[in-house]
Amino acid sequence: MLKGKCAVITGAARGIGKAVALKLASLGANIVLNYRSSEKEVKEVENLIKDMGVDVISVKGDISKLDEVENLVSVAKEKFGCIDIMVNNAGITKDTLILRMKEEDFDTVIDINLKGVFNCLKCITPIMVKQKHGKIINLSSVVGISGNAGQVNYSASKAGVIGMTKSLAKEVGSRGINVNAVAPGYIETDMTESLGDKYKEEVKKNIPLKKLGKPEDVANVVAFLSSEASDYVTGQVIQVDGGMLM
Ligand code: NAP
Repeated sequence: MLKGKCAVITGAARGIGKAVALKLASLGANIVLNYRSSEKEVKEVENLIKDMGVDVISVKGDISKLDEVENLVSVAKEKFGCIDIMVNNAGITKDTLILRMKEEDFDTVIDINLKGVFNCLKCITPIMVKQKHGKIINLSSVVGISGNAGQVNYSASKAGVIGMTKSLAKEVGSRGINVNAVAPGYIETDMTESLGDKYKEEVKKNIPLKKLGKPEDVANVVAFLSSEASDYVTGQVIQVDGGMLM
């Protein structure tokens, strides 16, 4: 389905990014794995992808730094000649109630989750406009739609990602570029590991499907948005949350 395509995935060493990289590789795409600090983990993902018979490289880079994203995109372009799919997945949380939230907790989350996605969009858009095609998928979150106590910084960043997704979809639709967002609910990764079993049981009670999601659940939707099957879908926010928010 994605044979010969090139996909760049930020934050691809762990969690949802890793699942997306493996899924797109399994569909035949060549993969560019971005990572910031998880060097050992990214090598493991690289080896798994090599075994699938597609081409793969890893590029270190902090998405909050424009020059490092420029490098990521130019290395990818040089290696594969074309970037068909860009999955802006990397993100962090620094949760606490606003009474305790420090300015730096707000700034760091915005710098990575919002400015980081902007940096990626800024670098990939000219390439895709020139190619006259491309699929951009941004990772938002259901809390960017609903809000969540203890996540003023994170929910602001993820709501911002939705705004950027829709604005860019309007800007580049005529150039053959689709821009969509995926908004996961609670997915079992390192990010949600610290929430604790008791909290997770409470969360499950409010999810119609009565379970947390897996990274692969998100990866399946990203695969759809990366493929020709979604050619008439743009500017959308697709929730992958077991029905938690509706
Ligand atoms: P995770 O397991 O904590 O992994 C986060 C990834 O982001 C890591 O690979 C990390 O790279 C990378 N990263 C963080 N800061 C970075 C930076 N400045 N530059 C480059 N990479 C950076 O998180 P996850 O659960 O897979 O989440 C992936 C995305 O889905 C995030 O955007 C998150 O907000 C969103 N999301 C997750 C959930 C959930 O329940 N898990 C729900 C809604 C939305 P290194 O390890 O190399 O530092």
